Amino acid sequence: MAEAAVRSGRDPKEIRLVAAAKMHDAAAVREAIAAGVDAVGENRVQELLEKRAQGAYAGAPLHFIGTLQTNKIRQLVGVCDMIESVDSERQIEMIGKRAGALGIVQDVLIEVNIGREPGKSGVAPEALDELLAKAGETPGVRVLGLMAIPPFTANPADSRPYFDAMYQLFIDMSAKKYDNIFMHFLSMGMSDSFSEAIKAGANMVRIGTAIFGARRY
Ligand SMILES: *Cc1c(COP(=O)(O)O)cnc(C)c1O
Repeated sequence: MAEAAVRSGRDPKEIRLVAAAKMHDAAAVREAIAAGVDAVGENRVQELLEKRAQGAYAGAPLHFIGTLQTNKIRQLVGVCDMIESVDSERQIEMIGKRAGALGIVQDVLIEVNIGREPGKSGVAPEALDELLAKAGETPGVRVLGLMAIPPFTANPADSRPYFDAMYQLFIDMSAKKYDNIFMHFLSMGMSDSFSEAIKAGANMVRIGTAIFGARRY
């Protein structure tokens, strides 16, 4: 990460490492936190709640990075420091409602389907404007940036155009200065692609395999 940052003329300290911990147990997560990851990301609500009960996340912010089902939102708001995978008005409404009931503000990122892949999570790039406007006027929800999972490519360098397109969106949305929307984080890049993502402007990467080893399904 530091190498990629320096090669692109950026300060390594400005790039956050989210350890993508799905399928790895509480002990492994605690080890990653002790080693200095900036946050822990989980994909499945059940797994997150179980590992949380085991004290897996003490000392690090917890991010939800999986597909966000509306019937699980209640269990995540206030439990996660950030929900990275918000992609619809309905989800924003539900998060706002739950956050209001708890008397908190929930930090979120908006996930963009930058490859326009059918059936994949994320708002279409052309619908992002409208969704941000909606989020900006929803009490209890604070948007802190964008997240993307580009289409899988065998060669990580082939992801670069998607990362570049996300960075451009991030810049464009920053320039619009919506109320209550803060374009602080651009979350993209995984084990095989984080270097390309950082070079394109990511300041948050989500890495599983390169930290924990292969997942055993
Ligand atoms: C699993 C996962 C990652 C990390 O993937 P690796 O290839 O293991 O680094 C990143 N983001 C999301 C949303 C994931 O589900």
